[in-house]
Amino acid sequence: MSDERAPARHQATWSRRGWLSAAGAGLVGSAMSGDVETAPGGPANQQGTRNQIAPLPLAEFEPKSMLHVNETRIGRARFPVIDFHTHISRRRAQRPSVPPGDLLKAMDAVNVQTMVNLTGGTGEDLATAITTFDRAFPRRFVSMTEPTWARASEAGYAGWQGNEIANAKAAGAVGVKVLKTLGLYLRDGGPQGTLVRVDDARFDPMWEACGRLGLPVAIHVGDPEAFFLPIDRFNERYEELSAHPDWSFHGRDFPAFKDILSARDRVFARHPKTTFVALHVGHWGENLSAVGAMLDKFPNVHVEIGARIGELGRQPRTAARFFDKYQDRILFGTDAIPLGTETPQQVFGEDLYRIYYRFLETEDEYFDYAPAPTPPQGRWRIYGLGLPEAILRKVYHDNAARLLRLSV
Ligand SMILES: [Zn+2]
Repeated sequence: MSDERAPARHQATWSRRGWLSAAGAGLVGSAMSGDVETAPGGPANQQGTRNQIAPLPLAEFEPKSMLHVNETRIGRARFPVIDFHTHISRRRAQRPSVPPGDLLKAMDAVNVQTMVNLTGGTGEDLATAITTFDRAFPRRFVSMTEPTWARASEAGYAGWQGNEIANAKAAGAVGVKVLKTLGLYLRDGGPQGTLVRVDDARFDPMWEACGRLGLPVAIHVGDPEAFFLPIDRFNERYEELSAHPDWSFHGRDFPAFKDILSARDRVFARHPKTTFVALHVGHWGENLSAVGAMLDKFPNVHVEIGARIGELGRQPRTAARFFDKYQDRILFGTDAIPLGTETPQQVFGEDLYRIYYRFLETEDEYFDYAPAPTPPQGRWRIYGLGLPEAILRKVYHDNAARLLRLSV
């Protein structure tokens, strides 16, 4: 729909530009025919210079803002922070483990009290994560487990998975993480098989088990809205998607963006006694009124802000109202990954936290949402919310502590 409208808008832009240059030419013409003499290096020369400017590839465009506005450095968060969304442990040998001591040094510097390691995995991976992090440094690290998707097509999966989650809790897991494997990758019958729906009934016993065991479910089953649209000149995340074409869910048999969220919402509705944390601002940071409507409908749901301050910060007035209204249901998170990531908005370190703090605590204007030379999730900058202390305390710490039952 927006595709059909877009060319007209494009044309309108060009004709306006054409009008401006025609008006400019007219001005030059009248100056030359009037009594103002054209100095050497005047219009004709400017015209020549203009012709010599080489086209600039978008990837090389790094404009420096000429705004002179406040830059507030927030070294440490106003209150101790629980980062509800991190990925720090070794998982299926894909990612090396970072020594906890390295993490603690940065955490202490920026006032992060606890990191929640969402992808603790299962079995041996989970046991190692809990030994290396959670037990070695109590209250500084807690880990979640994950469903074993590889067995989802097997007979008897539902009951087995419920038991596995009970075992994970006994081993020390504090919740269950659901990655977008569910909804976008998991298929019955191999890679060419049918995509499994988020609200597939086979998972009902698992969601119920989480509620019964008091384990919150950190869920992320969608992605930014633009990832479901064609990768073309109208896509606001064109650069990000052209760098990572595999992140696109446009075409093939992928469900529409809203269909995934609707399926997820049916899960929220069917399991009112299970607590869900919809990560990445409820998966729709671009549309806070829709996220608010979802929160109004499902009292068992919270949201988390990881890797979405770029969205929140480009709509600061709407975002501030959202934080005010849902202050008891918003969790601080960064989606931080300590090693080897191509996504600057997720690289663990003091810089990353300080950007989040600046966004939440100050009223600074028009600053970068990620430590990178160009904004990685779209070419815009953000504005701070300047949240009051009472809200900061809840978002940084209290809401997550309540959900995870962490003693103060
Ligand atoms: Zn994540």
